[in-house]
Amino acid sequence: MTTTMTPTLITDIDHFIGDTVDSRGAQHRRDVYNPATGAVTGRVAMATADDVDAAVTAAHTAFAGWSATPPHVRARILFRFRDLVDQHADRLAAIITAEHGKVLSDAKGEIIRGLEVVEFSCGIPQMLKGEYSENVGREVDGVTLRQPLGVVAGISPFNFPAMVPMWMFPVALACGNTFVMKPSEKDPTLSVELAKLLTAAGLPPGVFNVVQGDKVAVDALLQHPQVEAISFVGSTPVAEYIHATAAANGKRVQALGGAKNHMVIMPDADLDQAVSALMGAAYGSAGERCMAISVAVPVGDEVADALRERLVAALAELHVGDGSTDGVDMGPLVSGVHRDKVADYIQIGADEGAELVVDGRTTAPAGDGFFLGGTLFDHVTPEMRIYREEIFGPVLSMVRAGSFDEALQLVNDHEFGNGTAIFTADGNTARTYLSRVRAGMVGINVPIPVPMAFHSFGGWKRSLFGDHHIHGPEGVRFYTRNKTATIRWPDQTRVQTDFSMPTHS
Ligand code: NAD
Repeated sequence: MTTTMTPTLITDIDHFIGDTVDSRGAQHRRDVYNPATGAVTGRVAMATADDVDAAVTAAHTAFAGWSATPPHVRARILFRFRDLVDQHADRLAAIITAEHGKVLSDAKGEIIRGLEVVEFSCGIPQMLKGEYSENVGREVDGVTLRQPLGVVAGISPFNFPAMVPMWMFPVALACGNTFVMKPSEKDPTLSVELAKLLTAAGLPPGVFNVVQGDKVAVDALLQHPQVEAISFVGSTPVAEYIHATAAANGKRVQALGGAKNHMVIMPDADLDQAVSALMGAAYGSAGERCMAISVAVPVGDEVADALRERLVAALAELHVGDGSTDGVDMGPLVSGVHRDKVADYIQIGADEGAELVVDGRTTAPAGDGFFLGGTLFDHVTPEMRIYREEIFGPVLSMVRAGSFDEALQLVNDHEFGNGTAIFTADGNTARTYLSRVRAGMVGINVPIPVPMAFHSFGGWKRSLFGDHHIHGPEGVRFYTRNKTATIRWPDQTRVQTDFSMPTHS
């Protein structure tokens, strides 16, 4: 008997420069995979420094016109873009699932979180109004303006190909900047699709551009004299490099890095809620979220034993498979290399003495996809590598604490400080935790405390480098610079020279 295999269609994924898809750099391409099948589905162009220069030049040329466009007219284009993304959400989510692997409902969720930033950005004219002080001196007025920076660049990670770019460019564009986006080379299609929808919404040519590539493209952006600012989201070592290099080159920079997010479970917590929250926060998107909970800190052995029992039962029900099919809770990891790295961490944890309660290496679905099952460790201690390092996979470590103070100390001593959560029925415990914990985003009975678009997102310690968190009011401050003016329209009938320092008395 012969079987006929349908060959996978392999598409070229290119840059978007000016107002069109641009295939320069096509001589250097890299494979893009469907992580659920392991098949190559695309070949992405890898930009050279010259290609990056073409995109920056397009953005630089467009800046004069775009920055002079009235803010409410810029916002109208974003309103139309918002509607177009909404209309195309199912198609965009399918692209995310096909290149990243996350389940479709999760892919749709990230599009909605990105759209919320677009909605916030539609109201940015309100935040660009500036300040005016009448009569700071006799016949003298004081004014503060917030003006766009110029060409700004965004560099994004693989794990949110829609949401993270949308943390950046809607705010930047609404403030009057022009933009060059460098998405992850692992799931590069979505940024081009967003560029096409921006163009369809009426964005002028060159205001938003996409360059595909890797470190070569990033370094070209970091060196380019016409790039005024860099927004980066990715791993901590790269964030440190981006922050140091951009700052040394005189650019404004915000660089959001990695994480190790703890969830403290107090003895008075509702355990059903805590288990359900932990399952979603640890294993959702295969643990490939910067706000994933990777450490559970039950306070007291009684809670720890009960939590462990319930997690084991819940893990037995976790349905791992192709994220494009119904009923799947957790898809594959993004690449074979990353899956193997996470599997190595499971071995490291077992070797360094943690108790491997559920081993995801034994529960992964068969086939060529980059799968791992959900993994649970108990009796993890702070010296272990699986505790100190970001694994970025479906691996949950339980570190047992004897008291609230011990749990708090543990969280505060960790080098990362992105997000954290506490589950408790006691308001005072929650309040004390919020006040004393050293992390940028805190959930009280909420496992993944990603702030809404009109607040700002960002961590502390080695989870963020730079002064500004991303989107919300901090995003507007990041993408604008302050200018003050002191204005006098003198009475032409009186002329008097003053040689002392003006004091506006
Ligand atoms: P990554 O750091 O490998 O890559 C991020 C971006 O940097 C990509 O566009 C990539 O092409 C580029 N890049 C990679 N290596 C580079 C180098 N040496 N020089 C210059 N550029 C380089 O991150 P990733 O694996 O794509 O994403 C996962 C990481 O991102 C995790 O550490 C996760 O915690 C982090 N993350 C953080 C946040 C946050 O808000 N703090 C959000 C999402 C993801």
